[in-house]
Amino acid sequence: AKARGKNTFHFFSQDLNEAAKERLELESQLREAIREHQFMLYYQPKIDLTTQRVVGYEALLRWLRPNNTLVPPARFIPVAESTGLIVQIGEWVLWEGCRFLARQRSRGLNVDLSINLSVRQFKDNSLAETVERVLQRTGVEPERIIFEITESMLMGDTDAAIHQLNQLKKLGVSLSIDDFGTGYSSLSYLKRFPVDELKIDRSFVQDIPEDQNDKDIVSAIIAMAQQMNLRVVAEGVETSEQVAFLKQHQCALVQGYYFSMPLAEQELSQLHYTIN
Ligand code: C2E
Ligand code: CA
Ligand code: CA
Ligand code: CA
Repeated sequence: AKARGKNTFHFFSQDLNEAAKERLELESQLREAIREHQFMLYYQPKIDLTTQRVVGYEALLRWLRPNNTLVPPARFIPVAESTGLIVQIGEWVLWEGCRFLARQRSRGLNVDLSINLSVRQFKDNSLAETVERVLQRTGVEPERIIFEITESMLMGDTDAAIHQLNQLKKLGVSLSIDDFGTGYSSLSYLKRFPVDELKIDRSFVQDIPEDQNDKDIVSAIIAMAQQMNLRVVAEGVETSEQVAFLKQHQCALVQGYYFSMPLAEQELSQLHYTIN
């Protein structure tokens, strides 16, 4: 039994070493990715349910490796976050997203862009300054930008969070709470934060219309948002039944595979900005 325990420990520590090695490797690959410009943005349309038109996009980060594999964010953002590399990557997302908006505008298309912020970015004191500089240099109107943050980023030091949100609001950008419903925001709590939009998490949308519980939650969030004068977006919409339900409850905006996957910029023109 002792020998076996030793063996188990041996394998266990070997696993840990493997994990640590993989992490280090990923970190150095990420540094290289930043240097070599291996990131790209995909864009998922946001549709206004009353007009059926594309009113904007959400920018979603992709890592295009030299071997041509496209790495989704879930695979590298945790390491980028823990190493702090996400701050640099996030700044690139901001530049590229604004350059995208400027290109769209030069084609006569006035769309908005939702940009995800990471915890580290959100806690960074120079964030508002950076945003201001990027907006100035690219000539993008702040009204075109919506920053998505999660409920957990607002927890802990709420005074610091409110201060950061106000710094951003002063620039004229909008703020959205992503994955809404998965955190712990209560109504009174929510009122303290200067946000403009709630984004209903995909987990509440995916089992509509079968799950009565989820239907109740989604309709309650929509009603609450209306009451508080907040814009509401449903994410992860995949079926016509879900679209019908959201329409019936007057959800303003939707996003999901039913309308479009996230696409590279050159693929967007094929959408013709109206989805039938
Ligand atoms: P998120 O912000 O909640 O983004 C929505 C995710 O759901 C995206 O995954 C999108 O591709 C996916 N999605 C959209 N519609 C559907 C649908 O109908 N069904 C299903 N099953 N999925 C759908 P993606 O692109 O892999 O991004 C994952 C997460 O990575 C994002 O979740 C966000 O938290 C993070 N992320 C993406 N881009 C950035 C970025 O530029 N900066 C930061 N900090 N985080 C990012
Ligand atoms: Ca998001
Ligand atoms: Ca989300
Ligand atoms: Ca999410």
